[in-house]
Amino acid sequence: MKRFAVFALAVLGATTASMAQQQQAPTFATTKVEGTDNVYIFRYQNHQAMFVTTPAGVIATDPISYGRPQAAKAYLEEIRKITKAPVKYLVYSHHHYDHIAGGKVFKEAGARVSAHKRARERLAALKGIDVIVPDQGVGNKHVLKLGGTTLELHYVGRNHSDSSLVMFLPKQKIIFAVDFNSLGAVPSRLAVNDSYPGEWEASLKRTLALKWERQIPGHPGPGGRLGTRNDMEQQLAFMTDLSKSVKKESDAGKCFSPADTELKLPDYSKLTGYEQNLAWNVHRWCGYWGRGI
Ligand SMILES: [Zn+2]
Repeated sequence: MKRFAVFALAVLGATTASMAQQQQAPTFATTKVEGTDNVYIFRYQNHQAMFVTTPAGVIATDPISYGRPQAAKAYLEEIRKITKAPVKYLVYSHHHYDHIAGGKVFKEAGARVSAHKRARERLAALKGIDVIVPDQGVGNKHVLKLGGTTLELHYVGRNHSDSSLVMFLPKQKIIFAVDFNSLGAVPSRLAVNDSYPGEWEASLKRTLALKWERQIPGHPGPGGRLGTRNDMEQQLAFMTDLSKSVKKESDAGKCFSPADTELKLPDYSKLTGYEQNLAWNVHRWCGYWGRGI
């Protein structure tokens, strides 16, 4: 299995830090993805977004500023340290606020805001505080070309949300995919709350059909690493087994309880969060399978 690292470009976010804070990771950081000329990750606390610089402008993604408007300001300032080219696009990965609140500073800087058309519909209806409704809602595939860089936006079906886009850089073989592929982990309660169990597996297969090698996730991976195809294949295998197993429990009348506490999937017991998260997954899939008799 190939290993990839990210190259630290600019690190310090906080201007003042106590001794305790100094021992923790900085509040935010920008890293250039190794092996690329122009692909960056902006991390703020436990969220992160990809941005791509070109001579003709910048494509930014997810403002990640839910409840912390300073994050988007820091994000834009970090881009400005790298290039003075205009921010032309801001693309949302999906409609959940923790990833897309705070787009105002990008919009005011001149960015056109894009998302899947369902995200646009939802955000227009929800009227979230500090949430910019996309200017454009895209369909199953949309291609952005800017300054020699191509970024493909693929809608791969419903999974963690009903509006998730995979952002694919075909030349760099990199995707930015958020919240529907847990790196080395069982999906969390938050990952399955608003999900579509019967369709999630198909969306992973459609994503794997794209010719990518590395995934930038919306939350830092273990040790800050990027995702691999192996991570996604593992998530698909977990979900396939989960779904089959929960259907059996449902058919036996064991949903929601006692299946949510009794069902075990020992093949995945080494994944992070197995003990804490499995019950949430069983509960959600029990809901999908109609709870049984
Ligand atoms: Zn989400």
